[in-house]
Amino acid sequence: MSDIIERLEHILVDSTVKARGTSVAKRRRRNPTKPSAKWIAPARIGNEVGVALAVVLGTVGCSHARGDSGGCTMCSYLLDGDERSPTTDELLQQFDNAHSELTDETAPLSVKIYTSGSFFDTTEIPSDVRTKILARIAKDERIQEVVIESRPEYVTPDIMRETRDILGSRRIELGIGLESSNDAIRSICINKGFSLSTFKGAVANAKEYDIGIRAYVLLKPPFLTERDALLDAVKTIEDAAKLGVSTVSMNPVNIQKYTLVERLWRKEQYSPPWLWTVMSVLRDAWNKVGSSINILCDPVAAGKVRGAHNCGSCDESITSAIREFSIHQDISVFDSLDCDCMRQWHHVLNHEDISLLIHSRSRRS
Ligand code: SF4
Ligand SMILES: [Zn+2]
Repeated sequence: MSDIIERLEHILVDSTVKARGTSVAKRRRRNPTKPSAKWIAPARIGNEVGVALAVVLGTVGCSHARGDSGGCTMCSYLLDGDERSPTTDELLQQFDNAHSELTDETAPLSVKIYTSGSFFDTTEIPSDVRTKILARIAKDERIQEVVIESRPEYVTPDIMRETRDILGSRRIELGIGLESSNDAIRSICINKGFSLSTFKGAVANAKEYDIGIRAYVLLKPPFLTERDALLDAVKTIEDAAKLGVSTVSMNPVNIQKYTLVERLWRKEQYSPPWLWTVMSVLRDAWNKVGSSINILCDPVAAGKVRGAHNCGSCDESITSAIREFSIHQDISVFDSLDCDCMRQWHHVLNHEDISLLIHSRSRRS
């Protein structure tokens, strides 16, 4: 059995690398002193409403995607990176540029640091840059919450201790892409490159320093039917809650450029999830573990052919209900939703195993 999984993993790595093709070599040069993206938005911070700054630092990109494995089957974040690693000064200028967005804001503030990879990976963010950025945050007393994204292998006891020491008593949450709690699905459908035990180790290391975990859960990796994807996402959210994560953010797959998922989608061998599936996962998961964790979802490209979608007429109302649910954690927002396409979705759930993707393809015909 392990031999079969190993062979499937090889095929998947090979196909993922092929799908990426020459896109990485064609990455455009960016201004290394400006972040890839930054935005501010109202946010819930503890029990208050404040402002959150999100910054995507431009780095050389995710190691997993840069390496021979080709990265995850659904992700093209590497294309946001730069072919050359920015210098220490340039990375600090990127952070300062984003931080200045908060000049006129008052407490409480939240800062979310993304890199389209891992903030704790020293090949993306050298350790002196990491500590200097954290020290800049520590100096700003208005900032009460810090969210950082990283793959779990970089969440070591030393880095957790250092992060807690610098940031003091602020609320800290690490966003980690668990995707699925099933090792086989994470490996042969997503090509994620780490095991559940690595994720558990990261949760333990973070908890030791009172650092919370936001687990990202992927809805509908390739090679799963709609029903299997639904069941896997609910099970993963349940498992993540049992492992002690503070928040789950569920991400329905959207079709990103130069990915294996895009290749399969073009060949009509993959279809993004139905919005009904997104709604069902949220409702089922909330019924099971909603009292212990927050479950969030803000589907990218919802209602579009490259994102989670339904028939076209009901997409907007369901997407608004999903966003409403994420803010208030109230599943009654789904109660009155209905559309003729729900019958077709039920049919897909019951019969897709037999007829594969035929039913999913015809939802907009
Ligand atoms: S999903 Fe995360 S780990 Fe996977 S390739 Fe993208 S950035 Fe890297
Ligand atoms: Zn509909």
